[in-house]
Amino acid sequence: MSESAVRIGLVLPDVMGTYGDSGNSVVMRQRLRLRGIDAEVVEITLNDAVPAELDLYTLGGAEDYAQRLATRHLLRYPGLQQAAARGAPVLAICAAIQVLGHWYETSSGERVEGVGLLDVTTSPQGERTIGEVVSEPLLAGLSQRLTGFENHRGGTVLGDGARPLARVVSGAGNRAGDGIDGAVQGSVVATYLHGPCLARNPELADHLLSQVVGELAALEIDEVEQLRRERLAAPRRH
Ligand code: GLN
Repeated sequence: MSESAVRIGLVLPDVMGTYGDSGNSVVMRQRLRLRGIDAEVVEITLNDAVPAELDLYTLGGAEDYAQRLATRHLLRYPGLQQAAARGAPVLAICAAIQVLGHWYETSSGERVEGVGLLDVTTSPQGERTIGEVVSEPLLAGLSQRLTGFENHRGGTVLGDGARPLARVVSGAGNRAGDGIDGAVQGSVVATYLHGPCLARNPELADHLLSQVVGELAALEIDEVEQLRRERLAAPRRH
């Protein structure tokens, strides 16, 4: 690895990373390498302080208990907050949108203080929302529909400081009935979409990466297009 390699922080995969969310870091690394840009994934576990100097970061989903351990760790070692404050891109999936908010309430009703990077709060929905999601991005620079899989009890509400990532076409997203998914605030992009999200949504991957390395050459990968066709059609089959 050269000293100029892009360093992708995979934050707490030992407690946050349901449904293969850690794959988002692999997708980012590979999309850079295929363009001849050196990149590495730096795993940050509960045994490590969170470094503030990496180029971008990603966090995955988690069960209620595991996400509490993660929340405590992120508050104790505020490297992620420092990185976000200088504009390092952060991709947060499912439980991570909850953890990065002001607070979230677990399924048992206990309120946990969050990291405070996102102006969002989360309370349990009447029923768990599970299934395929298709959404229309609202973020400037994105034009392709987003696809992912959701499974969460928490329902997330945005405050004025956060904008939704997308308008839901099918599925629930942040909270059943609200019709929006995710949150964007500063350099943080959050979504309920598992998949892993970036394998299904290469445009979002390149959007995050281009903030670190500048404009990226187009990348045609037949398997990715095939996966997108299949997954975007999936909700219609159910
Ligand atoms: N534990 C959280 C919830 O159920 C997040 C779940 C997840 O990350 N898949 O709302």
